[in-house]
Amino acid sequence: FDDRDGWIWMDGEFVSWRDAKLHVLTHGLHYASGVFEGERCYAGNIFKLREHTDRLIQSGKLLGFDIPWTADEIDAACIETVRRNGHTDAYVRPIAWRGSEMLAVSAQHTKIHLAIACWGWPNLFGDNRMKGVRLGMAKWRRPAPDTAPTASKAAGLYMIGTLSKHDAEAQGFDDAMMLDYKGDVAEATGANAFFVFDGEVHTPTPVCFLDGITRRTVMRLAQNRQMKVVERTIKAEELGRATEVFLAGTAAEVTPVRAIGEHTYTPGQITETLLGDYEKLVRMGPDEVRRLAA
Ligand code: PMP
Repeated sequence: FDDRDGWIWMDGEFVSWRDAKLHVLTHGLHYASGVFEGERCYAGNIFKLREHTDRLIQSGKLLGFDIPWTADEIDAACIETVRRNGHTDAYVRPIAWRGSEMLAVSAQHTKIHLAIACWGWPNLFGDNRMKGVRLGMAKWRRPAPDTAPTASKAAGLYMIGTLSKHDAEAQGFDDAMMLDYKGDVAEATGANAFFVFDGEVHTPTPVCFLDGITRRTVMRLAQNRQMKVVERTIKAEELGRATEVFLAGTAAEVTPVRAIGEHTYTPGQITETLLGDYEKLVRMGPDEVRRLAA
């Protein structure tokens, strides 16, 4: 992934893709002191850019650091990165981390760096998305909110995601369904989960995982359609009773699910409606997005 043409914004200037390098003694690498975002640009507009930027800044604060750029500056840098790379539709990846000025668990005097890259990435699940993805049950669980700063999009929290995703892929699944520390349904490794029960849209309360920007958008789209939306604890035993399941995330967008472990589902009317509404919304201008799904 490092050997390609393009420009990456690093600490305020553009460097060529191949030269966007760090020192091997970077604190972020050794101790996972990094936070990042995943955004999508559709038809030239980064969808909900300010929400992503605010979450990036907040993620840093939860790890005890301030990103040395304002939200306006970060927004402008994201937009300029997409433009400079000649994209209109792209995935955008800002990342902030502690540098290599000192290396120990204590890292009070490290500099906070920020970089922004972007690349074409049609969908997290590629060609499998529309026919529906299959999820295996993860053996790793989402940690309790007093075990890790679970509201932060922190690099370190993705260790259990990568382990779970690799396990699932080794068993022929597309992704993993993760439970939380209590054994209740949480989310997939890079997207929130929705379940249809008795014609209503249910989603787990985000106590120990990201309250995704796509998740909130989809809840709003469902309400705009007069669907009943319920946020609650969902027990693992209930998975077999859902009639439709789908994932929602920036990279995953709205992706139908056709299996979780031994349970199978047929993507239906509710998934199709919300998938279509999301596809339309992301290609509208920011004013229209605010009107329909602020
Ligand atoms: N959960 C995890 C673990 C994720 O990585 C993501 C993607 N950022 C989400 C949920 C969904 O968040 P969003 O809709 O804000 O992209």
